[in-house]
Amino acid sequence: MDKSKCLFCDIVQGKLPSTNIYSDDQCIAFNDINPVANVHVLVIPREHVTYLTETTKQHEKLLGHLMRVGARVANQMGTAEDGYRVTVNQGANAGQIVDHLHLHVLGGEQLNSLGTTLENP
Ligand code: 5GP
Ligand code: ZN
Repeated sequence: MDKSKCLFCDIVQGKLPSTNIYSDDQCIAFNDINPVANVHVLVIPREHVTYLTETTKQHEKLLGHLMRVGARVANQMGTAEDGYRVTVNQGANAGQIVDHLHLHVLGGEQLNSLGTTLENP
C-alpha cells in the first residue's frame, strides 16, 4: 500500500496528533480515538507493517517487542493487576479498518468474552 496515505504512519511522523502514552525507537503507543473500554491504547510499530499475516521471521523481534510494550502500557495505565486484553484485528472479519499493524490494549473494566460474533454477541 501507499505509505504516504497511511493514517498511522502520519501519526508516527507527527503529521497527525496523538496522545503520547509510550514511545521508543521501534514503536509508539497512544489512546484510541474511539475507545471501547476505559483503557484503550494502540501500540504500533514505527515501521509500516500492513498485516500480521504478512509478517515473516524477520518481524519476530518486533512482534515480541510490541507484546512486551503492550504489557508495559497496561501496567502504566493501572490495569495490569485487574487484567486486560492485547489483541490484533486481522482482516475484514475481525473488523480491521486501519491497514498498519497495531495492538489494542483493552482494560480498566470487565471486558466482553472473547470471540463473540454478530450472531452470538
Ligand atoms: P482496527 O479495527 O483497524 O483494529 O482498529 C483501528 C483503531 O484505530 C480503531 O479502534 C479506531 O478507533 C482507531 N483510530 C482510527 N483513526 C484514528 C486516529 O486518527 N487516531 C487515533 N488515536 N485512533 C484512531
Ligand atoms: Zn503505516
